[in-house]
Amino acid sequence: MKSLIAIHDTTLGPACGGVRIWPYKNEMEAAIDVLRLSRAMTYKSAAAGIPLGGGKAVIIADSRNDKNESLLRAFGKHVDTLEGRYITTEDVGMTPADLEFIAEETSHVVGLPTTSGGSGDTSEMTGLGVYLGMKAAAKSKWGDDNLNGKTIVFQGFGNVAYNTSLHLMKEEAQLIASDINPTALQKAQSLGIKTIAPNDIFETDMDIFSPCALGGILNDETIPKLKCSIIAGGANNQLLESKHGYEIHKRGILYAPDYIINAGGIINASCEVGMAYNAKRSKSITQKIYYSTLEVISMSNEQSIPTSIAADQLAEKRINSVRAIKNI
Ligand code: NAD
Repeated sequence: MKSLIAIHDTTLGPACGGVRIWPYKNEMEAAIDVLRLSRAMTYKSAAAGIPLGGGKAVIIADSRNDKNESLLRAFGKHVDTLEGRYITTEDVGMTPADLEFIAEETSHVVGLPTTSGGSGDTSEMTGLGVYLGMKAAAKSKWGDDNLNGKTIVFQGFGNVAYNTSLHLMKEEAQLIASDINPTALQKAQSLGIKTIAPNDIFETDMDIFSPCALGGILNDETIPKLKCSIIAGGANNQLLESKHGYEIHKRGILYAPDYIINAGGIINASCEVGMAYNAKRSKSITQKIYYSTLEVISMSNEQSIPTSIAADQLAEKRINSVRAIKNI
């Protein structure tokens, strides 16, 4: 079992973030990914107003072939050595059931199945947050947050996109999904959602582009090809580099920052840290994503800065204010 745990910041609370199982080519690639992801967790939890710091873990393995009880329990032992400074949960390649094996070796785990008293699948609350973030962006862009008739294209139709689409279908938005996995495409089709090939995203006119696969998708190559007014999706680290936030801003595309609108999952998990999970509490904190998205967009408009930079300012303001009282 080869795993890396990154603790980025614990000013606001213990570092919390999911564990990702991915067949990284080498340890350096895994280290870069886990460091980037842990920083994003610090900013995500800070902007969401929850009492958690930022951390993340990766296991270098193929979740389809290598995942088993001993691998997961070995990871649990690794988490336990940190004595609660890092709390783990689910990410790509993991399920709530996998967390039960980890929990055999450490108590520092959240997002356990509801049948075990945990908060369960995080993607339901993430989907709610992404949907509300989209609506807030629509309100700023078009003066109305109604998404009826708007064309929304998902890149990746996994758990987050699926849960986001359930809300959008109620509003009768025009949904299109792309995925590299035929099973995911079939799931979209069974809901009556039109599907396209992954590369066709850049040939398609749309109102909202919703990246819901992996990170780095907003880059030098893709940004000039995008035909959308808003970018709002659930994937982590959508901007390949921070300069791409400026590129998007320059083109007049409104970017709803990833970690502002995809915070529903960590909010849900936070409602299990040190207390019995309460779904109502989780939903009511997640609903605030609508207002934090509006706040970030208004900071961006006032200062003529990209929304990605405004989001960082919002998070840093909270971390710095708490750091000041802790004399760190
Ligand atoms: P998932 O594995 O269920 O879905 C991802 C989907 O993207 C898969 O169906 C996969 O086949 C597809 N995909 C991968 N590469 C693609 C490509 N190049 N083009 C098109 N499709 C592609 O994962 P998820 O839980 O839905 O998470 C999606 C993203 O959201 C990830 O970046 C994850 O880190 C992030 N996220 C998830 C949560 C959560 O609660 N699950 C919370 C915050 C952020």
